[in-house]
Amino acid sequence: MGIELRKIVNETQFHNPFQGFALTSTPSEIRFDPLTGQRVRILPLRNRKLPRHDWTPFVEESRQKFCPFCPENLEKATPRFPEDMVPGGRLNYGQAVVVPNLAPYEIYAGVTVMGPEHYLSMTELTTGIIVDSFRASLDFLRLVETYDAERARYGSVNWNYMPYSGGSIIHPHLQVLCGPQPCRYDAEMIDHGKAYLEKNGRNFWADLLEYEQEKGERYLGRVGNIHWLATFAPRALCDVTAILPHKTTIAEVENQDLQDLAEGLLKVIRYYDYINIASFNAALYTARQEDRGFWITARIVGRYTIYPLVGSDFSHLQVLHDEPWTLHVPEEMARELKTYF
Ligand SMILES: [Zn+2]
Repeated sequence: MGIELRKIVNETQFHNPFQGFALTSTPSEIRFDPLTGQRVRILPLRNRKLPRHDWTPFVEESRQKFCPFCPENLEKATPRFPEDMVPGGRLNYGQAVVVPNLAPYEIYAGVTVMGPEHYLSMTELTTGIIVDSFRASLDFLRLVETYDAERARYGSVNWNYMPYSGGSIIHPHLQVLCGPQPCRYDAEMIDHGKAYLEKNGRNFWADLLEYEQEKGERYLGRVGNIHWLATFAPRALCDVTAILPHKTTIAEVENQDLQDLAEGLLKVIRYYDYINIASFNAALYTARQEDRGFWITARIVGRYTIYPLVGSDFSHLQVLHDEPWTLHVPEEMARELKTYF
């Protein structure tokens, strides 16, 4: 097995004004992603509960303004796909609707309006809403792949929940992307997965799962066929990874997988709600049949601000040094989050 979980624990000394200027020692960690080698930093925060954030004023303000995704506006205010790409111009599954993104940042860029409700709190999200909107998104990706096999090669489904996540519209929606190349981090996972297979003769995620299940300190549990882990080297707050064993392509994701994925996501979201994480990003990463050594994963991370209503959880470290940092030790989070699985 080639899994190696590397970390450096540093101790910083200073005379602490809150302890009568006694010389104290404060730990911090540098961890390395076992697949990509990416460095991340952990500045441990004792209390994982953040201040409770109330979205009510934002939601009320957004209701007064125009929302293109509300049922009375959707037909008139959202674009339509070319008829030969998506028959009917928009793709429906259950109550979810995929429409073109008015501000595309990839050749194929859809927005999946998750349902008619303008606002859903974390506790109001249901497996049905998540399953339908992910199904619609994946159906859209399969359609564009058929439409333009040369350029619609790598797809992902992404979720920015509420404004701290970078989402600009309150109305629940997913971002669906497809282009000739995977995103930078996706490409890293694909390339390193292939290299790991060539070096070790085994799949990285199979080995990681075996390692984490045996260790137990980050393994959260299993929902159907999907396994959930507290990510060893977090990219952001409360980073959780879901692994879909033996699946590589969009075509291999079945409805049962989406049901399992939705149930797992909701467990994490309920935990986020409990510790007052008010916003999150999630992504479902896929690859192509020829990308040997890759298993589909999903990732969900919390987004927040320490000071309510203003501020950001991104600093010079992420933006200018490409070095993610987080406040929570994954193993400590896992002890709490496990009880939700
Ligand atoms: Zn709306």
